[in-house]
Amino acid sequence: MKVLHACAELAPLLKTGGLADVTAALPKAELLEGIDVRLIIPGFPAIYAGIPHTDFIAEVNTFAGHVALRYGQYQGVGIYIIDAPYLYDRQGSPYHDNYLNDYHDNYRRFALLGWMACELACGIDPFWRAEIIHAHDWHAGMTCAYLAAKCYPAKAIFTIHNLAFHGMFDASHLRELWIPEHFYQIYGLEFYGQISYLKAGLFYADQITTVSPSYANEITQDYQGYGFEGLLRDRRDNMRFSGILNGVDQTIWHPNTDTHLITHYSSDHITGKVKNKTALQSEVGLPIDKNILLFAVVSRLTYQKGLDLLVDALTTLIEQDGQLVLLGCGESWLEARFRYLAEQYPQHIAIRLGYDEMLAHRIIAGADVMIIPSRFEPCGLTQLYGLAYGTLPLVRFTGGLADTVADCSLENLEQGIANGFVFYECDSRQLSFAIARAFALWRNPILWKKVQHYAMQQDFSWRTIAKAYIALYQHIIDY
Ligand code: ADP
Repeated sequence: MKVLHACAELAPLLKTGGLADVTAALPKAELLEGIDVRLIIPGFPAIYAGIPHTDFIAEVNTFAGHVALRYGQYQGVGIYIIDAPYLYDRQGSPYHDNYLNDYHDNYRRFALLGWMACELACGIDPFWRAEIIHAHDWHAGMTCAYLAAKCYPAKAIFTIHNLAFHGMFDASHLRELWIPEHFYQIYGLEFYGQISYLKAGLFYADQITTVSPSYANEITQDYQGYGFEGLLRDRRDNMRFSGILNGVDQTIWHPNTDTHLITHYSSDHITGKVKNKTALQSEVGLPIDKNILLFAVVSRLTYQKGLDLLVDALTTLIEQDGQLVLLGCGESWLEARFRYLAEQYPQHIAIRLGYDEMLAHRIIAGADVMIIPSRFEPCGLTQLYGLAYGTLPLVRFTGGLADTVADCSLENLEQGIANGFVFYECDSRQLSFAIARAFALWRNPILWKKVQHYAMQQDFSWRTIAKAYIALYQHIIDY
């Protein structure tokens, strides 16, 4: 079975969030299961920097002019790179400039990703032809429309990593993109008078998945479907839409091998975690004391992540003499709030604004609790990393967070299935109560260790997940 992943990010080379972790981990896991898997990605500078040796495969005429396809290897996976410097040779984010303005030609840049992915099902590489194309998020959604326009030379699977991003563009671009005119309709690409690359994926893929069962359910409801809920319900009712939970790439995220930690540790030899904790306190300038409960946030600072709720709930943390280390970047008003709080309470709060992969590892290893108060969360990876590192997640009950974290309620503790702290409503008082519950458990070290041990034993490896995707590929080939 020949499978091609089409995506715009690939960790650690180019990453703005969890999507990159998935597009790096899933192909590797599928390879280990014996699948002939490759990936296609635009030739962003970070991709060429990480894959310096590439071979020319072919040049093809497209709506964006003559475009070359190159091929290299990264971590054992074959990578096709779309060589169109006039579209992709821009530093920083793949989607916007340094002032967070979306690039005006994103409609071309990401339609080209779809076009070139489709070419790989049509024989542009004489020695490798995709049978399944697995497209990720709106960036690769047009792959499914081009496959449909060419009568499906390969089967298409589309994964929603976040339904909040619709890839909306002016309908006047359609002709330029070599899409048949009749695709512009409600049963097609049209979405409220524009074209949506997300809808291209949702409508034209043979199969849709999203990254957790709960999120799959939530986005079929009016309150979280952004207007796509009807289409998603329809596809679900026809057995074309399901949720498959993301996992943890243990070659990168395991406390016993993580190259970014000062000391390794495991569930059976947990003492190393304390050394990581005091080293982290020292690094970020907080009082060094292993007995202080240390909370952490590693996140995009956006409305989705609910961190404004944390701003209001921090009194509980400060009053109970806890500490918070926050690493994140995003909306300036949230950055300013946390900067102010760190200045007011330097004994309790330390922040690092920006994106720092290595520090993220050290924080997740050194902290005691990961706070993830998201308004919605398709899957979430930081709670899974927290579990693997014995850093108990404190989460709002939504999407993948609801699927992976069980509260330290008395009944869950009794059954031995508690692995974190859960609150339900989008409300800072509820978050405060959850923080208070974390302090209560912390005061009982034997119980804390028991919960921590259970959390670290849980299996979120990509192996099982890869098998689930492969079963789905087989299902759509057989269909
Ligand atoms: P999302 O994809 O919505 O941003 P996820 O929890 O699925 O959220 O994935 C976030 C990923 O990005 C994790 O690997 C996390 O460690 C990483 N991350 C988020 N913010 C930062 C940051 N400021 N610095 C380093 N890594 C970060």
